Amino acid sequence: MQILITIDMEQDCPPYLSTFFGVVQGTPRVLARLKQLGIRGTFFTTGDVARRFPQVVQSIVEAGHELGCHGDSHKRFSLMSHDEAEREVRDASATLRSFGEVVSFRAPNLDFPEPFLPILSQHGYRVDSSIGRHKPGTFFAEPSRTHGLSRVPASVAPSWLRIPATLRSALLSQLRGPAVFFFHPWEFVDATDWPIPIDCRYRTGQPALDSLAATVDFFRQRGATFHTMRELAPN
Ligand SMILES: [Zn+2]
Repeated sequence: MQILITIDMEQDCPPYLSTFFGVVQGTPRVLARLKQLGIRGTFFTTGDVARRFPQVVQSIVEAGHELGCHGDSHKRFSLMSHDEAEREVRDASATLRSFGEVVSFRAPNLDFPEPFLPILSQHGYRVDSSIGRHKPGTFFAEPSRTHGLSRVPASVAPSWLRIPATLRSALLSQLRGPAVFFFHPWEFVDATDWPIPIDCRYRTGQPALDSLAATVDFFRQRGATFHTMRELAPN
């Protein structure tokens, strides 16, 4: 079974907050934990985060992780015209590619209208992970190929991984491969008293780092292999 650990680099818990405690404080924590685990992840980053915190993005690339694109402003693509969507992808790509190769994409809120898919291939993307199996309507989404892209669905909502260990193991054992997990940097900061919904803030901070490690261990014990998104690009 193939496992992918992905991190969506954006402001703290959008749309509720516009701070960046996660990017600044959470990123070094997750980088340290991934290093300890010997895992290379994929960091889907907004152009906005990369312009505000270039040194953080540099640290991700230097640690050997894949840098992916998470839009420019973290606005929902379903609220954009085709021209706006094209501009959003073009601006984010220009910023992110100053740090290195970027070929993988995930839309904010896993919300990317199908008519926009050609924009991704036109801008050199080869993998798209803008579908979530945890979302109504795409529960049974399978990996597919279209417009020169591999489309690889995310498997579960990030908050589900922070549930207690026995429940988490039951959930993980049901997943089909490739299993794609996504986290946010703010989950690795103690956000339990932030003004955000309970499912966003419960068991954040150290418990979230422990959930990440436990998820990796769970699959390692079962002989799974770990990959970055670009490794799933079409040949
Ligand atoms: Zn996001």
